[in-house]
Amino acid sequence: MTGPAADDDVAAWARGLGLDGLVDIHVHFLPERVLAKVWAYFDGAEQHYGMPWPVHYRLPEGERLAALRAIGVRTFAPLVYPHKPGMAEWLNGWAREFADREPDAVPTATFFPEPEAARYVEEALRSGVRCVKVHVQVGAFDPRDEHLDAVWGMLADAGVPAVVHCGHGPLRGEHTGLDVFARVLERHPGLVAVLAHAGMPEYDAAFELVRRFPRVHLDTTMVGVPFTESFMPVPDDWPARLAGIADRVVLGTDFPNIPYDYATQLRAIAQWAESDDRLGEPFLRAVLHDTPAKLLDV
Ligand SMILES: [Zn+2]
Repeated sequence: MTGPAADDDVAAWARGLGLDGLVDIHVHFLPERVLAKVWAYFDGAEQHYGMPWPVHYRLPEGERLAALRAIGVRTFAPLVYPHKPGMAEWLNGWAREFADREPDAVPTATFFPEPEAARYVEEALRSGVRCVKVHVQVGAFDPRDEHLDAVWGMLADAGVPAVVHCGHGPLRGEHTGLDVFARVLERHPGLVAVLAHAGMPEYDAAFELVRRFPRVHLDTTMVGVPFTESFMPVPDDWPARLAGIADRVVLGTDFPNIPYDYATQLRAIAQWAESDDRLGEPFLRAVLHDTPAKLLDV
């Protein structure tokens, strides 16, 4: 088998690659009552997505953290995101406290198009935030909104990565689409953007943005795993395409809200690495550690 068979095998597998652990740029930790709502949404997945979505790591926070650490993740970005105005600043405060008490979590922030956004993002950046999450589908806002122009500019100047869920997958939103986010990049070409889910399902458009903008990256979140391959498969020549942009791909997983175990994502990545001679172990070290560590400055 290529890659770790189970979560218990990940740490040894990573050591075999010469890594002291994994760096995951896309995991979610949220205040308890927000998380309860997210999980309730996944409980209704048949209605929302047309298929069941059993959350694999549906555990109390302490056990969830322990599970992530036991897998061998040494640093992670716990991403938060609002679905309405007036919520982002509160989430940012929560994310700050979380990172203060959990040293392997980098401080993260989020925002919503609202008049206060520039102020609280500036404060977050000044306080040392290392990563920002933007969820265009859940937030149901246009990333080109005038309230966000200054925010994108600040992030570009700071070189702080923005993990942006702007693709149509797994669900379309009013303002999803890589063509929409391309307009933001055209205005802010220096933005360090990480296209969540590699832009799923618009993989071609995502590669095009990586080619056009030197600071655009792709995260691996849910990409190429059997669950996703059943409805938004990657193109057949995926490994060959990755070979051209190997230093622009970073590990992301959506832990804990995934309907399979963590090792499943790693096996998908390991399979790509094995399928093309230009990838191999150097690709795995870059994706699983070096490139996300560079973006998060850890
Ligand atoms: Zn996510």
